[in-house]
Amino acid sequence: MKKNKVFLALIFVAVLGCGAYFLFFQKAPASVPYKTFYNEVSEGKISEATIFPDKINFKYAGGESVFLTENPNSPNLKEFLLLNNVQIKEEKDFSEIISTILDVVFYVIFFAVIIFAFRKFISPNTFKTVRKTGVKFSDIVGMENLKKDMMQIADIMKNPAEYRAKGIRMPKGILLEGAPGNGKTLFARALAGEAKVNFIPAKATDFESMFMAIGPAKVKLLFAKARRHTPCIVFIDEFDALGKSRVNGFGGGNDEREQTLNQLLVEMDGFENEKGLIVLAATNRADILDPALLRPGRFDRQVPVERPDVEGREAILRIHAKHVKIADDVDFVSIAHGTSGFAGADLANVVNEAALLAVRNGHKLVTMDDFNDAIDKVSIGLKKKTKKDKEKQLRLTSVHETGHALVGAFTPDYPPVNKITVVPRSNGVGGFTQYRDKEEKFALTRKDMINEVDTLLGGRAAEQIVLGDISTGASNDIARATDILKQMIVDYGMSDKFKNMTLGKGVLGNRGGDPNLVREFSEETQNYIDNEIAKVMEERYEYVLKLLEEHKDLLEYISDRLKEKETMDGKEFYDIVNGAKHCEELAAPLT
Ligand code: ADP
Repeated sequence: MKKNKVFLALIFVAVLGCGAYFLFFQKAPASVPYKTFYNEVSEGKISEATIFPDKINFKYAGGESVFLTENPNSPNLKEFLLLNNVQIKEEKDFSEIISTILDVVFYVIFFAVIIFAFRKFISPNTFKTVRKTGVKFSDIVGMENLKKDMMQIADIMKNPAEYRAKGIRMPKGILLEGAPGNGKTLFARALAGEAKVNFIPAKATDFESMFMAIGPAKVKLLFAKARRHTPCIVFIDEFDALGKSRVNGFGGGNDEREQTLNQLLVEMDGFENEKGLIVLAATNRADILDPALLRPGRFDRQVPVERPDVEGREAILRIHAKHVKIADDVDFVSIAHGTSGFAGADLANVVNEAALLAVRNGHKLVTMDDFNDAIDKVSIGLKKKTKKDKEKQLRLTSVHETGHALVGAFTPDYPPVNKITVVPRSNGVGGFTQYRDKEEKFALTRKDMINEVDTLLGGRAAEQIVLGDISTGASNDIARATDILKQMIVDYGMSDKFKNMTLGKGVLGNRGGDPNLVREFSEETQNYIDNEIAKVMEERYEYVLKLLEEHKDLLEYISDRLKEKETMDGKEFYDIVNGAKHCEELAAPLT
């Protein structure tokens, strides 16, 4: 960098010097009309003439001063001067020389700037290799399943030959998905630390450049470097900036980015993972990534890195508080409760702010007051909701999710609840209920589909029963329930339950996808479908309301507990629902 600056400064001084010489030191000679010059030559008064392409400089006999005249190209000029004993010199125009010099200087500067830019943008030091990250999985709180999963990958990286012999292939690309500050970078560093391999961090924005071809060149450089440093983990942060979909308009036709993305795909396809090279990419929007990136052999493993729940937050606070002197009054459980929705990075920030505030307040130890002030400070920066709003939101989500889970639990044949959580996700979802083995069913029966509608409506019904009001939180549930009912009527001809279905022997929809068919149904059929959907939806909602009313105590108890804990696993849920027994044995059959 220093060298570059000196180089640029020298060029600057050179240009300035040339300009100054040209402007100030070149004394212009007095000009004489050609006719006068001609006469004076004839009279023998001129002793010496220097012919330039566009002028003649001359001296009088016995004189020193130089004069100037035009018309150097008049025919037979030289003969005329020689005849009159004028000494002739022929020279190139000085200004031409200057302009040639300036041209050269210009080209030198131009190429210097280009070389400088290239060196700056694709210097071999663009991507630094960290030989030992020094981070371990034990430095990360939570994400236990993920750690277990990745521990195996760390092991494969350590003993690639052993695993290869067993026919186990190492993944090439892993996509870490989660909101900023959830610990994606920390995780990637810890994986490198556990596997004891090199780590090359990069950001998708490193590949952006106003010069065409620099992005792809940098991708090549990154992979060349990674190959030289195998075993190695390459980490690309803010991956969506580079990997945005090219097809559905998210990317917006940026040629340079597309070329960079193509180069990345070429590189991903190009390495055989024998020596241990894994690319980890972090994003908070996997949904907008180009589908080509997610194909097998590329980023085919997607791993959610979620925000911590209340226990996770407590543990993260404790980890970061290890290096700070903490007063006895500090209650991490209570701080964890007061920081719902905070990511790991926010919590690290809270501890740091609290320590700073303690110093500013002259406290020897960091007190609970320091922590409370730090939370306020960090919350303002993050534009987090007030404590009251947060409580309200948490209660609403807890009730809503418990409603889904309980309807699922009291519906025979419905997949068992695996996890309920009210920890918000980066995509704006306040919480979710996860069922086990849900995706495995091959063909659905009508009963399965009605069960699905029931569980979807459980959220709204629970809100109505416990809170006496309903929220916008159910909009997605209602849309999905409506789609299912429509499919049942239109696509699957599940018509005997829907008595008035005159066309109901088969499929009603535009199955061939004929693009010329503007209207899928007649007015009458459309009305019928709409009415039928509304009718069945109402029936199911009434049923779900009744079901949850019967279990109102459970609904209130579990939702309160969920609000406290933020996540509840299936075991705990079923322990509450049925004592130690599995709900399916006890649940009343659906009428
Ligand atoms: P991301 O890459 O997802 O934006 P980072 O990995 O940069 O997040 O996280 C920033 C910091 O937050 C980390 O360096 C760490 O101090 C803290 N942090 C985040 N999540 C955790 C966690 N689960 N356990 C411990 N610390 C965490």
